[in-house]
Amino acid sequence: MSHVFPRHCHGTFPTATGGDGCFLIDASGKRYFDGSGGAAVSCLGHSNERVKQAIKDQVDQLAFAHTGFFTSEPAEELADLLIANAPGDLDRVYFVSGGSEATEAAIKLARQYFVERGEPQRRHLIARRQSYHGNTLGALAAGGNEWRRQQFAPLLIEVSHIAPCYEYVERAEDETPEDYGYRAAQELEKEILRLGPDTVMAFMAEPVVGATMGAVPPAPGYFTRIREICDKYGVLLILDEVMCGMGRTGHLFACEAEGIAPDILCIAKGLGAGYQPIGAMLCSSGVYDTIAGGTGFFQHGHTYIGHPVAAAAGLAVVRELLDRGLVAQARERGMYLGEQLRARFAQHPHVGDIRGRGMFWGLEFVADRDTKTPFDPKLGVAGKLKKAAFAEGLICYPMPGTRDGKHGDHVLLAPPFIASEAELSDALDALGRAISTVI
Ligand code: PLP
Repeated sequence: MSHVFPRHCHGTFPTATGGDGCFLIDASGKRYFDGSGGAAVSCLGHSNERVKQAIKDQVDQLAFAHTGFFTSEPAEELADLLIANAPGDLDRVYFVSGGSEATEAAIKLARQYFVERGEPQRRHLIARRQSYHGNTLGALAAGGNEWRRQQFAPLLIEVSHIAPCYEYVERAEDETPEDYGYRAAQELEKEILRLGPDTVMAFMAEPVVGATMGAVPPAPGYFTRIREICDKYGVLLILDEVMCGMGRTGHLFACEAEGIAPDILCIAKGLGAGYQPIGAMLCSSGVYDTIAGGTGFFQHGHTYIGHPVAAAAGLAVVRELLDRGLVAQARERGMYLGEQLRARFAQHPHVGDIRGRGMFWGLEFVADRDTKTPFDPKLGVAGKLKKAAFAEGLICYPMPGTRDGKHGDHVLLAPPFIASEAELSDALDALGRAISTVI
């Protein structure tokens, strides 16, 4: 009997014993194409020599030095590299060990920023429904996914949730994408005015929505208007690029495609690419200087922040992305992936929407394409698709539809950027077979 406490207590999972390029291998020798990079993590595949070597070298040199006493070379170099490539006036990097830690730190930084500015009345956080920002209590409160929040609701801080930007369902037939983008963004202004502008500290959103909605890019102009609204009311813009950042959408930072920069940016997953647990929160010089010129101490921290081995892995990952042109490759190969998805599934009677950017795609399944009616959640379509695909040797990330009936089951595809066209084509063959067995 296993003594591991797994997330799925009744599932029996194979034991992963190896990784080879875009494939994971189990104890029986079966190979699985990592079509979702786990959960949009493994951007470099599973056997990158440069990252593995960087980890080994760092362990030999220095395994750990607590940030209460030291900084380290890899943390300094990684921060420099990230900032050299970051948009806007993002200027400082606070390292953490994962995505939830990054968003949690962002919420606390926003609050401390306003306290130190002498605006302690600014305490409201606004986020969006059908979003996911992590599983720790602050991050969970920010997320709008009801299924994840439900039983913990009594423990969560109060966060306002506005509608997400979700063209497939929310854009009216006679509305242009630009008009819809503007209208969706106006929800933020309405909510700021309802709460009282001088009580709002920050707005948090994923530029391309990941786990909860399945790779949904924003409507054109949406984030331009969001940035304007935040500036107008002095509200900090926190972008959560934990899933969609680090090249995943074909830009190193997903917000580059929107032509805007946030005040605080969260990254994780692709930063460690699965080789080490690492995340980061980047903030503007204005935010940093307020703290540095005030108490001079960010009242937040975990033991493993800035871990040298994790930072060495992150540094090697970012160097690989930049030196080998893998962000551009994600963009180009992502176009192939999108074309192939459309060619194979756009006419399928139960595929309602195919959307994405770069190597980040979602398929939304519906019972009825004309009315966009989702499947009854009790049918568990997304879970069945995950199982059927896994049997076919394909890993894809499932997400059930929402109970408000607006959002159908979907699967998320986020393959490694190094996947070849032939590997992607085989993966979509497997996905096609899985879909045929389930719906
Ligand atoms: N934010 C987003 C957008 C995510 O997709 C996730 C994880 O899926 C998180 C935060 C939380 O990251 P982690 O699971 O590393 O804590």
